[in-house]
Amino acid sequence: ALTDRLSRLVKTMRGQARITESNVQDMLREVRMALLEADVALPVVRDFIARVKEKALGQEVVGSLNPGQALVGIVNKELAATMGEGVADINLAAQPPAVILMAGLQGAGKTTTTAKLAKHLIERRRKKVLTVSADVYRPAAIEQLKTVTKQAGAEWFPSAPNQQPRDIALAALDHARRHYFDVLLVDTAGRLAIDEALMAEIRDLHATLKPVETLFVVDAMQGQDAINTARAFKEALPLTGIVLTKLDGDSRGGAALSVRQVTGAPIKFAGVSEKIDGLEVFDAERHAGRVLGMGDIVALVEEVQKGVDLDAAQKLAAKVKSGDGFDLNDFLAQISQMKKMGGLSGLMDKLPAQIAAKAGQADMDRAERDVRRMEGIINSMTPLERRKPELIKASRKRRIAAGAGVQVHEVNKLLNQFEQMQGMMKKMKGGGLMKMMKRMGG
Ligand code: GDP
Ligand code: MG
Repeated sequence: ALTDRLSRLVKTMRGQARITESNVQDMLREVRMALLEADVALPVVRDFIARVKEKALGQEVVGSLNPGQALVGIVNKELAATMGEGVADINLAAQPPAVILMAGLQGAGKTTTTAKLAKHLIERRRKKVLTVSADVYRPAAIEQLKTVTKQAGAEWFPSAPNQQPRDIALAALDHARRHYFDVLLVDTAGRLAIDEALMAEIRDLHATLKPVETLFVVDAMQGQDAINTARAFKEALPLTGIVLTKLDGDSRGGAALSVRQVTGAPIKFAGVSEKIDGLEVFDAERHAGRVLGMGDIVALVEEVQKGVDLDAAQKLAAKVKSGDGFDLNDFLAQISQMKKMGGLSGLMDKLPAQIAAKAGQADMDRAERDVRRMEGIINSMTPLERRKPELIKASRKRRIAAGAGVQVHEVNKLLNQFEQMQGMMKKMKGGGLMKMMKRMGG
């Protein structure tokens, strides 16, 4: 589906030198669909499409890019820009203890993220960290924070359900001051839906604690509704950052776009597992690829563009079409083109994590070794042998194997692979190959 979408997008506008109102329509409809599928809220999608259109119209298409590819590039860049560029770490510029207030709906991941952040601040920023729970509605929530705080290697300040959240906050603040903590992380209660009493309570906590960071924790799986939650929390609190949790799930994370647009606050971190170390600094560019459903395929297109010699590919296709035959020189050209594209494992880095995980690094390493060996074998052949592989009989095989430093059976294996490829090429009659090349960026 991944390459399908890309090729569909790109196919709609081939061979035109400029992005125009008419050639951009189909493409933008696809982008719109992709964003809605990713759960970006409708008004946000509308705004976004309008912005992209404005940026794209009339733009010259550079080099061998077609307008479709150029537009994918623009869309991706705009997505990344909308979700925030650069790295935004936690701000600790305050008279210690720097207070960080966690806000968000119940189940968003506040307690988990509190502990993850504690660990992050201890390990990356060398801080002395105290946590406290102001969630007085659920005794289990206080215990939960205690447990995960221990896992994080931070200290936990006790609180109890019969206390007022404000009193808990003041006591924790006092303790943190007297024991020279650098950071106080305050976990709060959430409700299942937006609730006035809850908002009043957290506003009061904010006024009491004067936090340097007020982080809105939001579940990436929340989908379309994230925009309403974000709006409510933004109205209640001066948010300084967002943590997008559960990005390890299936969602394409379109909530990032909505939440960012509504709050204007930077997305600082992403939760990527239930475990204590499952927190990453948010990477807007990478996330843009996920929201579009293209992984980092934009980067892939760029890289392929750099590497692939389009002329050679076209000549090759023409040759196959005209029945000239596909020889070992062409086979070698294909192999080296693959290498130019950054090697197989280089390509893997560009694919979405789920797909890459399926392929497996070990497989990729093996494939790359195979490619190098194949190259060595073909390089040991004479020009004539490469043009007429059928000449390669036993004694030639032995010479080639010796030259390449491999066993004869490996030469046989390569010749078999070549024959298979040749058969495929004949079947495709050039058209298929060109399609393949185009899909990769030509
Ligand atoms: P709170 O009600 O906002 O405090 O939410 P919790 O921190 O208790 O988290 C609710 C559930 O979501 C728990 O089961 C967590 O383990 C889980 N959770 C939190 N963050 C993540 C994350 O980034 N990935 C995954 N897979 N689960 C998470
Ligand atoms: Mg909690």
